Amino acid sequence: MPELPEVETVRRDLKKNIIGKTINSVDIYYRNIIKNVSPIEFSYSLIGQTFEDIKRKGKYLIMLLTDVTLVSHLRMEGKYFLKKDEPVVKHEHIVFNFTDGTSLRYHDVRKFGTMNLFKTKNLKLIFQEEPLNKVASDPFDEDLTVEKIYEVFRKLSRPIKSTLLDQTIISGLGNIYVDEVCFLSGIHPSTSTKSLSIEQVALLLDNSRIVLKKAIALGGTTIKSFSSHEISGRFQNELLVHTKEFCPTCNQTIIKIRVGGRGTYLCEHCQKKFEG
Ligand SMILES: [Zn+2]
Repeated sequence: MPELPEVETVRRDLKKNIIGKTINSVDIYYRNIIKNVSPIEFSYSLIGQTFEDIKRKGKYLIMLLTDVTLVSHLRMEGKYFLKKDEPVVKHEHIVFNFTDGTSLRYHDVRKFGTMNLFKTKNLKLIFQEEPLNKVASDPFDEDLTVEKIYEVFRKLSRPIKSTLLDQTIISGLGNIYVDEVCFLSGIHPSTSTKSLSIEQVALLLDNSRIVLKKAIALGGTTIKSFSSHEISGRFQNELLVHTKEFCPTCNQTIIKIRVGGRGTYLCEHCQKKFEG
């Protein structure tokens, strides 16, 4: 599944390639991708609209057009391709044909991706509606403060790894990234969430930003299938603990355990378990 860095990479890539392009027609080959309006309403609302900006909330892409907003989630396998003069191929479910002859193709082998269309550009209103009303802030959002997070954390006894993966608390951290964040913070992923001090919570939040920033700069990971145009992530070459054999700090063997049902890599020597 694309994680926040991959989605951010897609956002930047789309922004570079489709801003200023105007939709001439929309072809829908698999209608269930579109969630909140009928396929006809979807097409008619988008014809004549020009892409003006692409934003992101969590793993949702928010595409602002002349009068409407298109919210897209790639889920497991969704990808966008910009093509010209090429026949539509299998798995291209939604095709936005532009007035300049190019087209943006939404490709999704698993068909789990979603699109929601809003006839407004008021993000405050859109954030109150499904599906964005359920998306928590990510580590880059200014409203995600250490104090706020600490207040939530001190009531939770489940492992810190499960808490960091919970998209209703902090959005954007997937399995690979959480292992890296816990390693950088010197915290065992099984540590009970409420046992962490405010300083440790601040450290986790700082390291979340560091790991995600680095992953974004490197185009994300390609451990799981992902591509947007020809981008392939190089972050997997830079992983410190996830899927690694030896700890880069102490050279001890990295162990793999399960935490909250997820495969988890850690160094028992460098990552301490705190009890609370
Ligand atoms: Zn170590």
